[in-house]
Amino acid sequence: MTKRQAGNDNERKRASKVSAEPRMERVPRAKGNAGPGRARQADFVVIGGGSAGVAAAMRAASHGASVILVEREQIGGTCVNRGCIPKKMLHYGATWAAILSGCLSHTGGREDWNDAIVRVKAEMARLHASYTQRLQEAGVHVLRGEATVSAPGEVRVGGDTLQARRILIATGSRPAPLPVPGGELASTSDDVFAWNGVPASLVVIGGGYIAVEMASILSRYGVKVDMLVRESRLLENFDEDIANALAEALTAKGVRLHLNTDVTLLDQANGAIEVCYRQVEESAIGGNGSGNGGNGGKNGKGKERIHSVRAQAALAAIGREPNLDGLGLEALGVARGQRGLRVDRQFRTSVRGIHAIGDVTEGPQLTPVATAQGRWLADRLFGRRGERADFDVIPTAVFCEPAIGSVGLTEAAAIEAAGKPERIGTRIKRFVSLENRFAGNTMPSVMKVVYNARSGRVLGVHLLDNAAPEIAQSIAVALRLGVRLSHLETTMQLHPTVAEELFG
Ligand code: NDP
Repeated sequence: MTKRQAGNDNERKRASKVSAEPRMERVPRAKGNAGPGRARQADFVVIGGGSAGVAAAMRAASHGASVILVEREQIGGTCVNRGCIPKKMLHYGATWAAILSGCLSHTGGREDWNDAIVRVKAEMARLHASYTQRLQEAGVHVLRGEATVSAPGEVRVGGDTLQARRILIATGSRPAPLPVPGGELASTSDDVFAWNGVPASLVVIGGGYIAVEMASILSRYGVKVDMLVRESRLLENFDEDIANALAEALTAKGVRLHLNTDVTLLDQANGAIEVCYRQVEESAIGGNGSGNGGNGGKNGKGKERIHSVRAQAALAAIGREPNLDGLGLEALGVARGQRGLRVDRQFRTSVRGIHAIGDVTEGPQLTPVATAQGRWLADRLFGRRGERADFDVIPTAVFCEPAIGSVGLTEAAAIEAAGKPERIGTRIKRFVSLENRFAGNTMPSVMKVVYNARSGRVLGVHLLDNAAPEIAQSIAVALRLGVRLSHLETTMQLHPTVAEELFG
């Protein structure tokens, strides 16, 4: 039998089945009698319960029309039954399998820190070689050593004295030390990448990017993680709905969150580290005296209690401070702000001829920002005046599980800028992604759009899903171009993706 004959046979079978038993999945507001063989009236009859038919029927019904949808097989059409959805799920399976078999081939399928770190270091080595080669090819001379700016236009490196009309400070930042007795017992994110194995348990101190990323990553390598967060929630600078949804996801995966805490002391005994902290009593929710809510914070007025948590290791991720030691800038009178060197829009410090960019300044500590600053400054000083990157719209991501992607104003920041809450609108969607459905978990993804209630202009997009960082990067262009909510609603979706939840 040919494929075509088989198709015809199937069609005949389908046709006879249809005439024998017409099926109605749902007939909203239809007038008349229900059931096979009886006369029925409707405002709208849709034949075909695939993507098009279902969409038309639902929209018509939402406008109050009585709708009859006729479908001879399962609702959902090609997309659900023979196309996009099963295809995409199998794509996940195939992709995960390929990734896992590549990554875990040395470990017999187990996630293994030692194996992973070997591959991480191999990539780091490849990048070192690549950078060195590219610098060489560009004609940049690389000199190894510690630099001191001895005078405007003069830098000393060991016995060498270098002279230049312009000097650029781009020395970056380092993890801030934990300012409590025993604080030096805590590792920092710098140390983690040198660990030969992971501790069985870890206390993470901090609630920002690094604390969240490390807690999420290490817990997935089998580490039992407690997080001590000073604020009443994670990721203070991110949108609250997204941060709260992440907190739920982390808690569900076994990370224990202790909010409104103030770490007071670290001590080492019997091979473990004990971290003592104060916590506002009224916020205690969940196990181990942990808080998952509350309103105390570092300025909380509730009754405080002293707690402690013991673990094999502690990790402090409480911000980064500029690398300024030994540069001699203070002696030259280069002005410092609270978080780093003070620069103007052209990255000039207070001393003529000395510029600064990147983490050593007060700006956002993000790699692409530093890179854009460097390229723009080099163009301006030595080439034609380049087009300035837009430093007002900076997409950012937190690589936890699920990941966060964010661009533009949070709801709170938009309301503050607008002056009144009614001037700001939000649209929030919670859904379980196909990827999670396939993996058998119902962890929700969240997408939130913040917009100007009058003009519809989108002010911020905040996402929680593993696809979020990729989406945030692309949506940043739209934000820069002044995208409105109506543009999102009328942009054709790409199905099946996570991003489509933002549109339509
Ligand atoms: P963040 O500024 O993100 O967060 C610091 C956290 O530590 C805050 O929760 C802060 O709380 C808390 N904290 C500060 N001091 C103390 C203290 N003494 N005791 C307890 N908690 C304290 O800093 P990170 O170290 O996480 O990251 C540094 C920078 O690195 C980030 O700003 C980011 O720009 C960059 N980064 C970016 C990443 C990315 O793009 N994916 C990844 C990692 C880092 P409080 O609010 O109360 O001060």
